[in-house]
Amino acid sequence: MNAAGLLAALGRAAGGHGLAVAAADLPAADPPAADPPADQPWRGARAVALLRADGPRMWEAFRAAPEWADGAPDPLDRWSARIVAELAARFGARAAGPSDGPPHPPFLRWALLAEPAWPSALGMLVHAQEGLWASWRGALLFGAPLGAPPARRGARPCDDCARPCLRACPVGAFGAGGYDAEACARHVAGPEGGACRAGGCLARRACPVGRARAPGAEQAAFHMAAFLRARPHALSAAALGLPVRPCLAGRRTHS
Ligand code: SF4
Ligand code: SF4
Repeated sequence: MNAAGLLAALGRAAGGHGLAVAAADLPAADPPAADPPADQPWRGARAVALLRADGPRMWEAFRAAPEWADGAPDPLDRWSARIVAELAARFGARAAGPSDGPPHPPFLRWALLAEPAWPSALGMLVHAQEGLWASWRGALLFGAPLGAPPARRGARPCDDCARPCLRACPVGAFGAGGYDAEACARHVAGPEGGACRAGGCLARRACPVGRARAPGAEQAAFHMAAFLRARPHALSAAALGLPVRPCLAGRRTHS
């Protein structure tokens, strides 16, 4: 199978799981020399095919999978890892997941190569179709270039935008210092956080790009519950009315 045929077949197979494919060839010197010389399982890969949630179609596929109902922890991550591993085996690639490591695979760098996506005013990527809801469930790594066409890009949406996302968070969790995950978690866990818990992040919802791709109520509540389970201290502090120590070190967000 040639590279174009492989990508077409991969697109069909991934689409059956509600996943969209975006591929890019990687430079021969990937990862760049500036990357820390840690053990990087993706070193030597010459092409990457990202598997991105295709809006609500991924949620429907996940809900039909055994992981949804088996009662074990982290069902979406387990489903993603299983599907990505199956696709990797079928298409002769290595599988990578966003939570692998440390060191973590450079999904953001890969997305900037393969996807019509840009760094947003909030810090996370804004995707031409998915807006602030882009979610990469995994990647396939190939040892030879695939000749994938360049990602189609227009202007960065944030450059011509009144930036409602920066004003939508009730606790100003997106500031000059980055994303304040602890302030966010305290709000989401507290009595005022019902709108975020039920409908997902208000800052993301404020973005006009990809508004139709926002998660439904069930998916939003699922992600928020997972976000809070990872921060039990925020739950207990909010229940007691205690302040939570702000942490601006990370820019990772909750879904
Ligand atoms: S609301 Fe505007 S500034 Fe904010 S992420 Fe969306 S496009 Fe960018
Ligand atoms: S979920 Fe979004 S809007 Fe709600 S507190 Fe967190 S960052 Fe702010």
